[in-house]
Amino acid sequence: MADYDDQNIFAKILRGEIPNDTVYEDEHVLAFNDINPQAPRHVLVIPKGAYVSLDDFSQSASDAELAGFMRALGHVARALGLAGSGYRILANHGRDANQEVPHFHVHIAGGGQLGPMFSRPRG
Ligand code: AMP
Repeated sequence: MADYDDQNIFAKILRGEIPNDTVYEDEHVLAFNDINPQAPRHVLVIPKGAYVSLDDFSQSASDAELAGFMRALGHVARALGLAGSGYRILANHGRDANQEVPHFHVHIAGGGQLGPMFSRPRG
């Protein structure tokens, strides 16, 4: 597994070195609007701990962090008003998924019809 790079952009956000558009925060997570939204509502939920991706988080996070993260995902989606109409959550891990930022994050997308889950891979 790749080492955690503490210069990644979400680490800088967590340290308050660059701004973000926060929608929710608690002891375990920060949630903020994606800078390049792909849906009418597009929020990223990140753990405050230093984890590269789901692969890292699922192996190394404490039970409290794991539970806090899942609770926060549902809470944020409800707070955004998406629970009734529906939403999609997605997490990219590694090269084949085109993970851009090496700090674990889950996308919450909603606020309108999202279309099919995947486009056909190019091979
Ligand atoms: P991924 O491809 O899953 O790693 O997604 C990274 C996401 O981070 C993309 O949707 C970007 O638009 C988003 N992003 C990158 N920089 C920022 C930032 N400074 N604030 C908010 N979202 C960002």
